[in-house]
Amino acid sequence: MQEYEAVIGMELHVQLKTMTKLFCSCPVESESEANTLVCPICAGFPGTLPVLNEEAVKLAVRTALTLGCKVNKMSVFSRKNYFYPDLPKGYQITQYEHPLAEEGKLIIGNRNIRIRRVHLEEDSGKLIHTEDTTFVDLNRAGVPLVEIVTEPDIHSPKEAYSYITKLREILRYIGVSNADMEKGELRCEPNVSVHRKGEPLGTRREIKNLNSIRQVEDGIKYEIEQQINSLKKGRPVERVTLLWDEKQKVTKVMRKKETEEDYRYFDEPDLPPLCISDSFLKEQWNCIGELPDERRERMRKQYRLTQNDADTLVSRKLLADYFEDVTKITKDTRLTAGFILVELLGFLNENSIRIEDNPISHTSLSELISLMKKGVITRTVARNILPKIIKGQSPMKVVKQLGLEKMEEKEEMEKIVQGILNKYPDEVKRYKEGKSGLFGFFVGEVMKATRGKANPNIVGELLKERLSKI
Ligand code: ADP
Ligand code: MG
Ligand code: ZN
Repeated sequence: MQEYEAVIGMELHVQLKTMTKLFCSCPVESESEANTLVCPICAGFPGTLPVLNEEAVKLAVRTALTLGCKVNKMSVFSRKNYFYPDLPKGYQITQYEHPLAEEGKLIIGNRNIRIRRVHLEEDSGKLIHTEDTTFVDLNRAGVPLVEIVTEPDIHSPKEAYSYITKLREILRYIGVSNADMEKGELRCEPNVSVHRKGEPLGTRREIKNLNSIRQVEDGIKYEIEQQINSLKKGRPVERVTLLWDEKQKVTKVMRKKETEEDYRYFDEPDLPPLCISDSFLKEQWNCIGELPDERRERMRKQYRLTQNDADTLVSRKLLADYFEDVTKITKDTRLTAGFILVELLGFLNENSIRIEDNPISHTSLSELISLMKKGVITRTVARNILPKIIKGQSPMKVVKQLGLEKMEEKEEMEKIVQGILNKYPDEVKRYKEGKSGLFGFFVGEVMKATRGKANPNIVGELLKERLSKI
């Protein structure tokens, strides 16, 4: 019997990085006090009229073009009617029959995920539940979103993970969104079904309330197992909308799926059709710039980086920009890449500093790397003084003040090496008995004793020599 195959289509909502909302001039901010960013238009007062935000159209068009979509010369806004306390108008303005763009694709590895449509819509407000009551916050009502819907071309939780990760990287690169899932700037709703290959597609179930990419992966995995089990027992899959319960790691039925008729879509009478001219399209093309895949390839070749290093650097635009700035000065791409990826990222990580807040300027870092390259300081010292150059202090000055120049004199080092071997007779004994891993321990101790200044190559040589004579 043929094995079951999972089929997944992804609906993704992305909050666009505009100053103001989609149909009014209320600011878009996430930190403000509840209900302070509201006007009669986004609060849905009768008699008000929406005015389309051109910046949102630009960002949505850039998204569509980047995904290789055909942008429609004319698209239409529709009303999607439903009642919910976070939707004071009683309808959401979205695009339905005539979306902004269609038929794109995103390539992940060797797989082609087709994009069915990309359209603009407004966000709803937010409900805030406390123990005994619920509040409504309309700050988010009317914030511009772009919805990106795939064809059912994804076939595993892992592939879903790759799709979202890659799309998020692109959205950040072209600057249309910060796409932070924790802040709700990126929301994913996978539709999951299973079938046997060659047979028609199975009934799909949509999962909501997934708040991280990991949760999307877990939710899909759980749902695939559920559906296969159910079919194996002869029970058909029911078409419902599901909620992910992160505490119990299970999906729960939220509601029987409403059909499209339930929303009674009709064209928005208060907005004219959205017409996109060729010159507008061209302008948006020119704003897109280098995309992650292109940049990865270019940087790998231009700087002779390993695939892995290129991948990590390019995964964050800021990091790639920073690397290019530093390497322009140090003129040593491998050393620079290695130092940034291992030492600098390690330093930021240990101190819970985000890359956006990296306190070391590219000029300071390049001076530091140059000192290392010229042999003035060791890599250990370079790493250790990172916290001392966060305010733009000159690395050379710090090195001089603290006397951290590389120690090259053999005599001085020999004394220290002997001192360490005298200090740890037991370890020396075990080393001689065959515990060769202790060699690293001795090197570490000598480095510590010299505050990282000793040339590690010479330390290694001296240690080997001494130990062989014991
Ligand atoms: P709705 O609003 O009803 O959820 P959408 O058109 O917004 O419909 O989204 C449909 C999503 O479901 C698309 O991503 C599509 O690829 C996906 N899909 C359609 N049929 C299946 C199926 N049998 N299994 C999995 N996903 C499916
Ligand atoms: Mg849906
Ligand atoms: Zn408003």
